Amino acid sequence: MSLRRQLNAIKHEQFPWMLEVTKNAPQMAIIQLGAAFKNFFAGRAKYPQFKKKGKSRDSFTLTNDQFSVDGSRIRIPNLGWVRMRETLRFTGKIMSATVSRVADRWFASITVDTQDDSHLPRSENQGAVGVDLGVSALAILSTGESITGPKARKALLSRLQRLSRKVKGSENRKKTKAKLSRLHARIGNIRNDALHQLTTDLTRRFHTIGIEDLNVRGMVKNRHLSRAVSDMGFFEFRRQLDYKAAQRGGMIVVADRWYPSSKTCSCCGHKLETLPLAMRKWACPACGSVHDRDVNAAINLKNLAVSFTVSACGEEGAGLGRKLKTKPASVKQESSSKATYG
Ligand SMILES: [Zn+2]
Repeated sequence: MSLRRQLNAIKHEQFPWMLEVTKNAPQMAIIQLGAAFKNFFAGRAKYPQFKKKGKSRDSFTLTNDQFSVDGSRIRIPNLGWVRMRETLRFTGKIMSATVSRVADRWFASITVDTQDDSHLPRSENQGAVGVDLGVSALAILSTGESITGPKARKALLSRLQRLSRKVKGSENRKKTKAKLSRLHARIGNIRNDALHQLTTDLTRRFHTIGIEDLNVRGMVKNRHLSRAVSDMGFFEFRRQLDYKAAQRGGMIVVADRWYPSSKTCSCCGHKLETLPLAMRKWACPACGSVHDRDVNAAINLKNLAVSFTVSACGEEGAGLGRKLKTKPASVKQESSSKATYG
């Protein structure tokens, strides 16, 4: 409240542009800032980041008393009725709307309190799978399938590099910047689409999915991996997998980040001391099996996931002779396992 009063006292002088937009916009921002500080002081989050108008993603949130939706129109304070591309897809109580801009497009994200429809059928039941998120491919499955990322992206990425160089010292700086942000948005869309296809396919086909806990922050420091990691959006992969598995009553088992999925022989359990990243194929010195690095890792993740589900049912770990290495955080995924195991 006092922050709002302070803002109101100075906005006419210091931020006159704020008078052009609805006063509801800063209102929610201040509430959200309050929540961010609360999380920070409770040790749950980092210090709130400063945001500047016009940088990256501009957005504001309206509560349900501040807007209304009618068919494919939304009424936004100060703007009036604005046409939307589509009608609301869900029925239920409308809670809030967040209006945002990505490049030159505007989006309204509307939160609706719906009936729990979290029981989608799984179309096939192939049991368990392990997924190794790759550097060269998008993902490698324990079945041996390799899912490549969308090809269209590569061409766009090189165009992006050319454009980024051009922005500096360009006379049409503003124009080039706009082009650049449109390109960023397009590349992001293609990536998200590929991730959605992958996570939908996985949760449809498999009940139990074993994945690695990717320490993305650590990996981004590693130069060789950084590009692939930020490129493929591992956090987003994990997020989608979690909610889609929950909807279908499936289960995600996350191996902790020290689990040696690549270095362990999936046939005999022998563990190598080291396995250089460049080594794509290797032969097990103990049993002689020849492994594809990524497929072997995926099989280990699958085995781990299976042993976890077995012990979750109160039996011993299915003769794998190995202790579970899932860390407690991975078990918090129980929202998705609860549906099946109560
Ligand atoms: Zn072996």
